[in-house]
Amino acid sequence: MKNDNFSKKGRTVSSERINSAEQQSQLVSKLQNGIKNDELSLHYQPRFDAITGKADVLEALVRWYEPGVGLFYPEVFISPAEENGLIFSLDLWVFEQCCKDLLQLQQTINPNVKIAVNISVLTCESIYYAQKIIEISERHNVSLLDFEFEITEATRVHDVRKVIAFCDTLKIYGATFCLDDFGTRQSSLLNLQKLPVTTVKISQQFVHEIGQSDQSETIIIGLIRMIKDLGMQSVAEGVETNEQYWFMREAGCDQLQGFLLGRPLRFMQLKSQSLEEPVIESC
Ligand code: C2E
Ligand code: CA
Repeated sequence: MKNDNFSKKGRTVSSERINSAEQQSQLVSKLQNGIKNDELSLHYQPRFDAITGKADVLEALVRWYEPGVGLFYPEVFISPAEENGLIFSLDLWVFEQCCKDLLQLQQTINPNVKIAVNISVLTCESIYYAQKIIEISERHNVSLLDFEFEITEATRVHDVRKVIAFCDTLKIYGATFCLDDFGTRQSSLLNLQKLPVTTVKISQQFVHEIGQSDQSETIIIGLIRMIKDLGMQSVAEGVETNEQYWFMREAGCDQLQGFLLGRPLRFMQLKSQSLEEPVIESC
């Protein structure tokens, strides 16, 4: 079971409980209402700069609390939402909420804080949604300079040219892009070569092998060097142990993120201290 602050307050609905086609379609129609009725919420997890120890970026992670049922994590509802075309309204809801939260965060916590928004590659295949994102940001008076979009490779990129057009449109307004969960898909290197990303997130699947597999450690060192040589920033996701933290730092990774450094927090729980890296003892 997932373990972040929300789950202590109520029941968490796990993916094992939603397996039949009928349950999936019920889930999708409830999610549709959930988006309309503002049942979604965002948690924020800091990404720390390896040199300064400060977090200038907070990653938004969506949660769905269905009244009377419980809390759903994205692993339960993102894939069904992608399969049923609901992901577009979900991604736009998330972006709009991020715009509202950004203004408050910049006023109360740190004027330079940015938000990293997870966005489905399906949304990135339509220029229409790039226009919607521009429209929403203008409506809320926020600059796209303060947003990085984390494009997850969980879904296959169907037409990379459309994703490039999406990114190029938003780049004009200052948005930046990150390739998420890097290294876990067949097309990782091709996407890295083609997409105009400035940041690459090394999948936690690699990070969790540190100390267990020499091969994974060699791959991580090679990935960090390659990302640097391409002029991009590397982020380690899923850092859970002191050993993983020190390994990634010594390998030259630019940013670090994970439960060891800071768990995803509800908006109301965020404080200036949430952006300060805790002291991690060397091992
Ligand atoms: P992701 O973008 O790779 O996000 C990282 C996931 O790992 C998050 O799970 C986060 O809570 C979890 N995590 C962070 N640090 C650690 C750690 O140290 N150890 C472990 N074991 N896990 C850690 P979460 O929030 O359940 O999100 C799962 C996935 O759902 C995300 O993976 C992302 O692909 C997708 N997702 C989340 N929010 C959104 C959203 O707003 N829109 C879209 N389209 N997808 C989203
Ligand atoms: Ca992400």
